[in-house]
Amino acid sequence: MGKIVHGECECGYSNDFTVGGARSQPKGWSRFPVLCRSCGKASDNDLDDAEATCHHCGGIDLLPYSDSSLSSEVGRGSIGPWSSDEKNCKQLRFNEASYYCPRCKKMCMQFLIVCFFD
Ligand SMILES: [Zn+2]
Ligand SMILES: [Zn+2]
Repeated sequence: MGKIVHGECECGYSNDFTVGGARSQPKGWSRFPVLCRSCGKASDNDLDDAEATCHHCGGIDLLPYSDSSLSSEVGRGSIGPWSSDEKNCKQLRFNEASYYCPRCKKMCMQFLIVCFFD
């Protein structure tokens, strides 16, 4: 089951990210928001794809938003589980925290679940 999450920040930044994937899609099972350390922009990428590249610049230096360096309050009530790979039970979670905003570069972005799809 996939989810659409909406990231938004008080600076006006907003973007939708896909988490997980639809069963009908053979690829893209493990989509998750990532920050590109080459260009500083966020996108969603397949974490299980070793050749995944940034949608914006094609860079390969991608950091998932589950990384503790991208959130300000880790572990304060997760709204997961955000399973990225149900077969391997590898779970990625968002916490109810503020996340690094790729526009204003402050820990001010929030993630909200918008919808689920299958
Ligand atoms: Zn990039
Ligand atoms: Zn911002």
